[in-house]
Amino acid sequence: MSLERLPGFRDCLLDDEASIQIQLNFSIDESQQRLIQGKLQASVHVSCQRCLQPIAIELADDIRLALIDNEDAIGTLNAGWDPWICADHKLELAALVDEQLMLCMPIVNLHRDGDCPARINYSTGTNDDPVDGVRAGDENPFSVLKALKENNATD
Ligand SMILES: [Zn+2]
Repeated sequence: MSLERLPGFRDCLLDDEASIQIQLNFSIDESQQRLIQGKLQASVHVSCQRCLQPIAIELADDIRLALIDNEDAIGTLNAGWDPWICADHKLELAALVDEQLMLCMPIVNLHRDGDCPARINYSTGTNDDPVDGVRAGDENPFSVLKALKENNATD
């Protein structure tokens, strides 16, 4: 599937050099529950949240979705199935894949310690000069964490 159809996931990525593979099987079980099972796999580039340089990451996840008409039906699902609300039997496959890919993105992306150029200077306490490609308003989660730790230390 091409990234153009996956706007939310695309926003998580550093560039459009992504390889995304999705395999989905559609079925209806004995209780007439509509099910989607499958696998997704993606190779993408994200930025390291410490040094802001690119990292290549691999995503892989199993998909086990049960299609339901509305939120009231969530309680009726068997364990192990995630609900996907699909009113009017209209399934927007790209939206489904977009969300599943975003769900399997790591919350924080970092180089391994030895690979991260920022690792050595990590404890300087000053923000580095802006790096090309960083959007204004992006906040380094580690500077927030550091500020929290410093606040705690003075309590
Ligand atoms: Zn890094």
